[in-house]
Amino acid sequence: MELLQPEDWQEALEARAEHPGALPLWGGTDVMVDLNFGRARPEAILDLTRVRELEEWEQRDGVLRVGAGVSYTRAIAELGTALPGLAAASRTVGSPQIRNRGTIGGNLGSSSPAGDALPPLYASDAEIELESSARGTRRVPIGEFVTGPKRNVLEPDELIAAFHVSPASGPQQFSKVGTRNAMVIAVCSFALTLHPDERRVGTCIGSAGPTPIVASDAEAFANGMLDWDGGGAPTEGDLARFGELVAAAASPIDDVRGSAAYRRHALGVLARRSLAWAWSER
Ligand SMILES: Cc1cc2nc3c(=O)[nH]c(=O)nc-3n(C[C@H](O)[C@H](O)[C@H](O)COP(=O)(O)OP(=O)(O)OC[C@H]3O[C@@H](n4cnc5c(N)ncnc54)[C@H](O)[C@@H]3O)c2cc1C
Repeated sequence: MELLQPEDWQEALEARAEHPGALPLWGGTDVMVDLNFGRARPEAILDLTRVRELEEWEQRDGVLRVGAGVSYTRAIAELGTALPGLAAASRTVGSPQIRNRGTIGGNLGSSSPAGDALPPLYASDAEIELESSARGTRRVPIGEFVTGPKRNVLEPDELIAAFHVSPASGPQQFSKVGTRNAMVIAVCSFALTLHPDERRVGTCIGSAGPTPIVASDAEAFANGMLDWDGGGAPTEGDLARFGELVAAAASPIDDVRGSAAYRRHALGVLARRSLAWAWSER
């Protein structure tokens, strides 16, 4: 198997165009598992770890641009204030070693419905920046980037450059149910973002459908129900209704990690609590 090691972003894009069968790699925490289990046999590996540009992040015109090679550890340490939902999700990923190596770009590349970085990015309307040497850059809303379980719109000559997202304008929550506290794939998860400036709630369900799912009916209910001006807390009945609508939006299956019925129940509880916690933090 050939190993391609571009030294910078331009070289990486050229190598990607010349070797569309090469599998990109950053932390390798998904790629190496696939290689070891014989699930992937690419003709070449495109090692991106020398491409320093992918490790950069910046805020410009009020929007964050975060390179695909930013690890979970760095997201927690450097972006925890601007993106508390993503930082909370990052804290639940794997172990310290996995958080040091694993990247949010890699989570996007894998596009697993259980990817923990995805729900906070959906709830905050992130856009993914893709680039090819032939066509330059394009930005795709995350809900259009992920097209199915482990599928996305990345073309064979494209790489993920970065994601773009606005810094939090209000409280953000991320909750995850697993069979133990660490090193666990989510049974289900839920991300919630309050956008008080727009009087709007963002949501996303993880690990309970073929892709992460935005709970649109729950969002519409919360947007109308919440007392944005007065700040009065939602009633238990309103929180329960919000939880019901989130549970109804899920599309879970029975599998080794949990039953569909359990996932729906748990999502209702996570959603109810997340909204109450976020509202109390305003
Ligand atoms: C023990 C263990 C525990 C884990 N726990 C969790 C967990 O709790 N939650 C969770 O969500 N995940 C978990 N994972 C999965 C994995 O760590 C994450 O998905 C991580 O974000 C992958 O990032 P990476 O940089 O290692 O990606 P890689 O393995 O390098 O790549 C992953 C995919 O993205 C593609 N890719 C990477 N970078 C780019 C790029 N710039 N452009 C285009 N494609 C690219 C690769 O080709 C590949 O398809 C775990 C894995 C292990 C081994």
